Amino acid sequence: MRKIDIFDTTLRDGEQSAGINLNTQEKLEIAKQLEKFGVTIMEAGFPASSPGDFEAVNKIAKTVKNSIVTGLARSMQSDIDTSWEALKVAEQPHLHVFLATSPIHMEYKLKKSPEEVIEIAVEAVKYARKFFPLVQFSAEDAFRSDREFLTRVVGEVIKAGATTVNIPDTVGYATPAEYGALFKHLKENAPGADKVKLSAHCHNDLGMAVANSIAAIENGAEQVEGTINGIGERAGNASLEEIAVALHIRNDYYKTDTGINLRETKRTSHLVSQLTGVVIQPNKAVVGRNAFAHESGIHQDGMLKNPETYEIITPELIGAKVEPLALGKHSGRHAFKDRAETMGFQLTDEQLNAAFKSFKALADRKKEVTEDDLFVLFTGQQIKDTDAPVYKLISTQVEYRNNEPNATIVAETPDGEETTVTSTGNGSVEAIFNTLEKLVQGQVHIMDYRVTSIGKGRDALGEAVINLSYNDERITGRDVAQDVLQASAKAYINAINRQLMKAELRKRAEQQ
Ligand SMILES: [Zn+2]
Repeated sequence: MRKIDIFDTTLRDGEQSAGINLNTQEKLEIAKQLEKFGVTIMEAGFPASSPGDFEAVNKIAKTVKNSIVTGLARSMQSDIDTSWEALKVAEQPHLHVFLATSPIHMEYKLKKSPEEVIEIAVEAVKYARKFFPLVQFSAEDAFRSDREFLTRVVGEVIKAGATTVNIPDTVGYATPAEYGALFKHLKENAPGADKVKLSAHCHNDLGMAVANSIAAIENGAEQVEGTINGIGERAGNASLEEIAVALHIRNDYYKTDTGINLRETKRTSHLVSQLTGVVIQPNKAVVGRNAFAHESGIHQDGMLKNPETYEIITPELIGAKVEPLALGKHSGRHAFKDRAETMGFQLTDEQLNAAFKSFKALADRKKEVTEDDLFVLFTGQQIKDTDAPVYKLISTQVEYRNNEPNATIVAETPDGEETTVTSTGNGSVEAIFNTLEKLVQGQVHIMDYRVTSIGKGRDALGEAVINLSYNDERITGRDVAQDVLQASAKAYINAINRQLMKAELRKRAEQQ
């Protein structure tokens, strides 16, 4: 069995897609889950890009022990220095440097000749190896690069000390046969390629990211990169959970081992979806809501007689088997704590108490508290960011006067003062948003707004996700409540607060 390393870039390539912004606490939660999922390497961010990224990479490097933690750097000394500061605390410091090698990128973006590109790449790898035992070089837009030139680049960076060379299809243009052939060519022709790891990194613009990644594995790649749920720029990255499950289910054919703990698949997918606000399409392979739903009568009949008639992946394999939830209004703290633990949450006493209080309040109003409700409740406790001055909602009310909705909001401002604001709108949500815009005293543009229900039934919790720009910075907020108007107001404030916390972090970094 060949070992295939899984390189997760949910927190870097995934996080940089439009509308996603995670705070440090959320990134840390995802990182811990990725460690449980068993990824070989996780890319925690791009330390030189912002103080927030630096902080997150540093904290993850300190916390995660069973996966290698890496960060991205441009091929320049200052980026490598900053990355070393963030990553030197890691068990096995690993750096990912990149430089574009395709004609279009070299000519228009870098404005460098091919010879200069080789020189810069070699210098960067040599410099990085002074600090890092593990250095991965990525030839950005490798697939559209001149093949002979790319072969030379790969040979030169290996000579300079790269321990892994990544051959990305940055724009998602490759087909499986071509991408596989490129790996075969490099393995056979790039000097030293047999002694280092070659890595595949695919984007899904033509819907072929997973197929291309697997074609690379069949042709010598020992590492594949991707994200959970396939999130990422444009059409996204290769979905790691799909690759891991495909290699497992068709182990008879591929004969590989990824070391992934497939039972953590569902939880990892769920957490990433919840914290990024990126909804999973219902029919998505492996983790979609309908991936195990059998609707047609013939299928259902077959399933009853023998599940294998129509089911190639079992819910148990990916940890999606729903255990009956024996929690209700009368459940005690002990049973609640047990449930949190079986669901994989390690909460402090304080977090557990707060979660239990919310649970009791919810159980009073809701007939059945579902596993999905609890998931939201527990993660909500784990990701609380506390110390920056932010807005706190005290109450939200909407009433109709002369057929027009009027919103009244009481809130505490970042300087600790209680204030009441009112406004109107064409609809209730607009009235709330207009009122909140008055409250936060800045330019707010709503780019995207969505309310979904968590679970089923008329008493389901509503989750609001809002993407807005506040003083020209885009940010996403989300929150849940039983009332969708409450959820919307809370999500709006959550977005504003995230921006304030980010600004605070920047301010602190500048003062240092
Ligand atoms: Zn990418």
